Amino acid sequence: LTELFSKLVDKIRGVEYIDEATLQEIAREIQRTLLKADVPLDLVKTFTDNAVKRIREEKPPAGIPPREYLIYVLYEELVKLMGGEQPAEFKPTKKPYIVLLLGVEGSGKTTTSAKLARYLMKRGYKVGMVETDTIRPAAFDQLKQLAEKIGAPFYGERDGKDAVEIARRGVTNLKGVDVLIIDTAGRHRNEEALLQEVKAIYDAVNPDEVVLVVDATVGKLAAAQAEAFMKYLPIHTVIITKMDSTARGGGALAAVAKTGARVKFIGVGEDVEELEPFNPRKFVARLLGMGDLDALLEKIKAVFEEEEVLEEIESGRLDLLTFKKQIDSLMKLGPLSKVFQLLPGGLAAKISEEQIELSQKNLKKWRAILSSMTMEELKNPDILNASRIRRIALGAGVTPKDVKEMLTVYENLKKMSKTLKRQMRLRMAR
Ligand code: GDP
Ligand code: MG
Repeated sequence: LTELFSKLVDKIRGVEYIDEATLQEIAREIQRTLLKADVPLDLVKTFTDNAVKRIREEKPPAGIPPREYLIYVLYEELVKLMGGEQPAEFKPTKKPYIVLLLGVEGSGKTTTSAKLARYLMKRGYKVGMVETDTIRPAAFDQLKQLAEKIGAPFYGERDGKDAVEIARRGVTNLKGVDVLIIDTAGRHRNEEALLQEVKAIYDAVNPDEVVLVVDATVGKLAAAQAEAFMKYLPIHTVIITKMDSTARGGGALAAVAKTGARVKFIGVGEDVEELEPFNPRKFVARLLGMGDLDALLEKIKAVFEEEEVLEEIESGRLDLLTFKKQIDSLMKLGPLSKVFQLLPGGLAAKISEEQIELSQKNLKKWRAILSSMTMEELKNPDILNASRIRRIALGAGVTPKDVKEMLTVYENLKKMSKTLKRQMRLRMAR
């Protein structure tokens, strides 16, 4: 029996061996994908090196192929760079909240001004827009028309000469709004002068949020664009436009890495309605060329949960709450999971096909039973008397006999877990 248990423990703790050549091959494959997505080489190297290092040190959890784990680690690193999984919010904190939009010509600033205004208006804010582009004569008409279309107050000066003065007068004229969006000219011709102008507008209106508008299709150029602006003023937020194109937006990722700004929105079309809150998970999935990243993330999370449960079982701490967690991860992972081998019938070596199938059918029932229990009952199963069992059975739509059966399985598992714990101690003592 001693031997059986140590085998079982080895099996549980067993990690897959990944040879270096395989790891390098996978890393190269992912590098190619990221480069194709316009992520600059230095970032690609940093990310894959980090991921490979982590995979060497952490070792993938058993049952997760190295390739999937590398993608998972890379996903974590990329999402970290984007500021986490939680989408960043746009929250006007004072009135008027002044937003300054920057970006090169054609990046989509003017369109985005109107989109952002529309987005905020739909959420109950009163939004005004100011056009300060004195270089492209059509810019004034463009934003004025968009403002009329969405019904937002607008300030601009046709044939105006001094962008800074226009911005100042815009702020005075539209004082009553909640949010004031100031559109600027793109830098292109005579760059230095335009950057100075943007800086002068910044100093004149003292905006609460500076937004860099980045076109997803410019690829690797995005980083240099961000850098040029950053020499003159801080950038708080990035909006990536033209994500409806085939571009994957890796260039914008570089701009984010350079500025430390957070992406808040993406543009997905020319219409004023086509602005979406930025979703880091979706964005990274697209970068990695994976539509099914969600499934992978769920699976790996379930494996981690399962390892936690195993640790609890090994440490002899096992209550119904742990049991419930275990059932949950089993339902996600399927019958081949490691924890399953600890279930009814007992030892891995002895479990039969029929038992696996039978237990699988039971999983759903057990989950329902456990869900009908109170927290107190889950933590302290000793209090389960006949009347509590009747109530639980009623709530779960099963018979009291089913509840008792499940409790027997749990008791067996608990006994095993105690033996396992003793066994571990013995092994450690040796
Ligand atoms: P600006 O020079 O930075 O002000 O750029 P504009 O707002 O004038 O936009 C330049 C072009 O890009 C226009 O034809 C827009 O319709 C287009 N555009 C802007 N945002 C998007 C987007 O998210 N998707 C697509 N497909 N086109 C966009
Ligand atoms: Mg414009």
